[in-house]
Amino acid sequence: MKKQFFLFLFFIPGMFYSQTIHKCYSKEAIDYQNSLIPNYEQHVNEQFEIAKQWSNNHTPTRSLYTIPVVFHIVYNNSEQNISDDIIQNQIDILNQDYARLNPDTVNTRLEFQNLVGSTNVRFVLAQVDPDGNPTSGITRTQTNMSTFGTWDLDFNELEKVKSTVDGGKDPWDQEHYLNIWVCDMSVDFLGTPYVMLLGYATPPLGLPNWPPDSGTEDLGDGVVLQYHAVGDFLHNTNDILPESKGRTAVHEVGHYLGLRHIWGDGDCTMDDGIEDTPDATDASMQDCNFNINSCNADVMGLGDLNDMVENFMDYSSELCQNSFTQNQIALMHGVLENQRQELALINFGVGIDEIENLDFNVFPNPTYTNLNFSSVKEMKNISIYNLNGTLLFEKEGNFLSTSLNVNDLSSGIYVVNVNFMNGQSFHKKISKK
Ligand SMILES: [Zn+2]
Repeated sequence: MKKQFFLFLFFIPGMFYSQTIHKCYSKEAIDYQNSLIPNYEQHVNEQFEIAKQWSNNHTPTRSLYTIPVVFHIVYNNSEQNISDDIIQNQIDILNQDYARLNPDTVNTRLEFQNLVGSTNVRFVLAQVDPDGNPTSGITRTQTNMSTFGTWDLDFNELEKVKSTVDGGKDPWDQEHYLNIWVCDMSVDFLGTPYVMLLGYATPPLGLPNWPPDSGTEDLGDGVVLQYHAVGDFLHNTNDILPESKGRTAVHEVGHYLGLRHIWGDGDCTMDDGIEDTPDATDASMQDCNFNINSCNADVMGLGDLNDMVENFMDYSSELCQNSFTQNQIALMHGVLENQRQELALINFGVGIDEIENLDFNVFPNPTYTNLNFSSVKEMKNISIYNLNGTLLFEKEGNFLSTSLNVNDLSSGIYVVNVNFMNGQSFHKKISKK
C-alpha cells in the first residue's frame, strides 16, 4: 500500500525536524476496513458503480440537496474546543465551494472550464436533534484523551472519537445527519505536532447487501477533522497550513459523497472511475504546478489534458483547488439518490430557507403513536409526506401546540412540513416505529 503524504520542513536553531502532515486517510480507512471485513473494498467499489450507473441514466430529482450537519467537538483543552464562529466559517466555505461561488474559480484553467460546475449540494447546521429538540448543530464533549492519534495513525485509536464510552462522542442518526467529528489526531514530539492527520471520511455503503455480522467492525459513518484544519486561516488561528482555505472538509465530504482521489490512489493504470478528470500518476503534493501532465490519456475528446491541480479531490495546495467536475457532481447526486437517499432534506420550495430562529419542537422522534408539536409562533398547517413527496395527512388551524395520532402510519421515514402564520415554514424527517 502506498501512503500519500508530504513533508513540511522547518528549522529550530541547532536542530532539524521533519514534520509529517497526512492530508487525508480515507483510502487508508478503506484498506483498514478491508483487513477486518472480507471484500469490503469490493463492496465499496460496487456501491460506487451503482451510484455511477444511476448518474449515467437519470437526472437528479432535486434542484438542491440540503444536508443537515452536526459537528461533534471532542476536546481535551480550550484550544481544541474551537469556536462556533470557526464552525460557521467551515459551513460557509462548504457552501461556497460546493456551489462554485468561490472567488478563485477565475483561476480554473481554460481547458477545464467546460468540465466543472456547481454541485447543488448545500450544508446547514442541524436545527433539530434526533430527539426533535432545537439544536445549534454543534455538540461539545470534553475528553480525557490527549490525542486520538498514534505514531502509526492506528484506526483502532482514531475511531474512539466516535464512541462516548471510549472518550469520544456517539454519532447522531447517520442516515439523517452528516456527522463531522473534530478532535486532535496529532502526535507531539518535544511539544510540537510531529505527526498530523488532517482528516478522513467513510465511503457510502449499501447496508442492505452487507453481511449481518459486519456492523461491529464498521467505521462510524461520517467525517473526522483535525481541529487545526477546520475553517480558514483567517478564522482558525491554529491553522497549521498558512494558506488554509478550509478545504480539508471540502475534500473529505467529497469522499463521504462517494468521490475518490483524482489520481485513483495508484499510477496511470489506476483512475478514479470518473471520465472527465484527467489521470495522474500520483497526488500533487501540496503543489500548484500547472505544467505537469503525468499520464497520457484523452479526456472526453478534449485531448490529453494536464493534471488537474484545481480539483478538490487532489492533494494540491488549497490555493489552487477550486473545482469539482460535472461527472464528479453527477456521482455525488447518484449517492444522494441511492446510498444516502435519507440524508438530504426534502425541498418544499418557498420559505424553506427561513428555518432559523424558530423556537419550535416536533417530538418524540422516533415516534410510535403520537407526534407532538409546540411553538412560540402560531402554526397555520401541518402536513406529513412520504419520501416520494406524497401528501398523507394534513391538519389546518391556528395553534401553538397540537398532537397528531400517527398510529396508522406504517414503520418508516416521513417528512413533516409546518407552515406558520407569519409565512415561515419548517420541515423535518421523522421516524415512525
Ligand atoms: Zn482524500
